[in-house]
Amino acid sequence: MNKDVNVDALFLGPKSENRVFYKEMMEYAITEHMHWRSGFHPEDSALVTPHCQYQPDFRDTLYRTEDILRDLSSRLKTKSVPWFSPRYLGHMNADTLMVSHLAYVMTMMYNQNNCAVEASPVTTDLELEAGRDLCQMFGYDVGKSWGHITSGGTVANYEGIWVARNLKSMPLAMAHHDGAKDLVAGLTEQQLLNMKTSDVLDLTDELKKRGIFEQVRELSARGVGVEPGKLGKFLVPRSKHYSWMKAMDILGLGQEHIVPLDVDSNYRTDVKKMREITFRLMEEGTPILGMVSVVGTTEEGSVDAVHEVVKLRQECEDKYGSSFYIHVDAAYGGYVRSMFLDEESQFMDYDALVDSYRSKEIIPEGVVWPKRDVYDAFQAMSEADSITVDPHKVGYIPYSAGAVAMKDSRIVDLISYHAAYVFEESDEQDVGDKPVMLGSSIMEGSKAGSTAAAVWAAHRLVPLNISGYGHVIGRGIVTADWFTNKLATAEPFVVQGRSFEVRPLMHPDFHMVNFTFKELGNDSLADHNSLNQRVYERCSYASGRAYSKDFLTSSTSLTVDEYGDTPSIYVRERGFDVQEWETEGSVYILRSAVMTTFLRDEVRFSQYWNNLRDIFTQILTEIVDEENKKSLSHSAA
Ligand SMILES: *Cc1c(COP(=O)(O)O)cnc(C)c1O
Repeated sequence: MNKDVNVDALFLGPKSENRVFYKEMMEYAITEHMHWRSGFHPEDSALVTPHCQYQPDFRDTLYRTEDILRDLSSRLKTKSVPWFSPRYLGHMNADTLMVSHLAYVMTMMYNQNNCAVEASPVTTDLELEAGRDLCQMFGYDVGKSWGHITSGGTVANYEGIWVARNLKSMPLAMAHHDGAKDLVAGLTEQQLLNMKTSDVLDLTDELKKRGIFEQVRELSARGVGVEPGKLGKFLVPRSKHYSWMKAMDILGLGQEHIVPLDVDSNYRTDVKKMREITFRLMEEGTPILGMVSVVGTTEEGSVDAVHEVVKLRQECEDKYGSSFYIHVDAAYGGYVRSMFLDEESQFMDYDALVDSYRSKEIIPEGVVWPKRDVYDAFQAMSEADSITVDPHKVGYIPYSAGAVAMKDSRIVDLISYHAAYVFEESDEQDVGDKPVMLGSSIMEGSKAGSTAAAVWAAHRLVPLNISGYGHVIGRGIVTADWFTNKLATAEPFVVQGRSFEVRPLMHPDFHMVNFTFKELGNDSLADHNSLNQRVYERCSYASGRAYSKDFLTSSTSLTVDEYGDTPSIYVRERGFDVQEWETEGSVYILRSAVMTTFLRDEVRFSQYWNNLRDIFTQILTEIVDEENKKSLSHSAA
């Protein structure tokens, strides 16, 4: 049997093409649940009787229910953004998997709460299994690692830094406990604050053996708090998601202890500068609380060189005896690691990979993906201490599904509100038996079991390897490549004698395509920014527009505050004076995550592009008309 998924069979489709199957299975879900109810203690008689149902106010309540739902439907249809359509290329949204919708709805009727296994005997297991799937995708040892679902990447990031904080503060806590002192005897404070993750966790094993783990744990940051700056600096690329600022705030670590890492012309962390900063901190004796690498930056989809971070950590361990915690924020790009795995979940070597892409028709000849350093970065993810990934982004699973994976499951004990022995006692082969009281081992409390079912079901149908998600994600990557090339070579749009040239910011690492329009001959960056903002206003639902000439995208501003001078590279490329950048300090761009799977061949894409050219022409015409009208009314006044 061919193990490869057929991507067109996974989604309801832009025109609800798969409606018959979808409806049938939706009905199956509902009918099954009803049977379950009526079959539960058949000796119990019905409690809502026909007599009750014929009461006037009973009918009235049903009518009002219907009214409300009609109202809701009308609201949803009027203003929702049509993620399912290839006309939408904006945030990380597209059609979502039918199997996940169905699993979600089916489970929702059972209203499972994954806070505690008692309230979710079925779905807690599904969550743990989904967590193991993700650990395996990241190259972690499934028996030793730990992953679970969060509400999103934000909370996953919080959890990453939460464990890092508690871990970092454990050796100091040991030094302050009479029964543990000897374990860290002779180490300076500096050394205590720079221990290797695995070394700290080995020491916690010893504490558990001595029966003082809980006592010492209460002397770590979780019990006694953190002295400002004590745990050191948190190195995060400038391309970071703003959840990191929130994280430093919430966890009491202080935003001022973030050291921003500059990005290079590809919007990846500048490796040379990262190394300089790290070595400087090492020389100064300033501890490093952790380092974040972003795999798929939110704004550019850029992939940081995780392999360089891993290498740097090794160098620091060798040269200074100092280590640091590595968290990979792969909220956006995490699922892409499945594109590198064979059906046995082995990371493929580069040439075999490219061969498979060709033979499976995932990536055609002429599309260069992955770049070699992107490949290396994904491979090195297995060395990170923890990883954030969002099933509700490139997993094509409905909200709200994020996840965090941790390389060494022992680290959970540092944040857990279980007694440590609860973990120790569980059956060794089956990590599924580990923290079944999820609520006391994670950041959140009550949470939907339906989400776990949705993620679990997706992973069963669409394996996290080249034959599953490889096909799904590959389509977006290929379309993004075609889109970028069209933008890079497009003839200018001529509107009433004025010419507007569109160009991409760069060739993306993944499937985020950023681009801008520039009026040829107008070298004011302020005008450029306002032009693109006006294009965006016509490509968004913010103003509640009609459906006439739809192309939908998102936008963002690359500012000097966030990015330093990196955006000036593009600004100069587009022919602006560097002076313009210095005065303006930002460049407004249109931002398109190309997640759609429906533009799968060049014929379809060419039609799409031709239509898009017409839409751009219409939009630019509208903008020019508006300007003409304005200048006319000015001269009239
Ligand atoms: C989306 C994103 C987040 C936040 O994830 P949510 O699911 O929105 O909470 C964090 N980091 C990166 C890189 C992201 O792209």
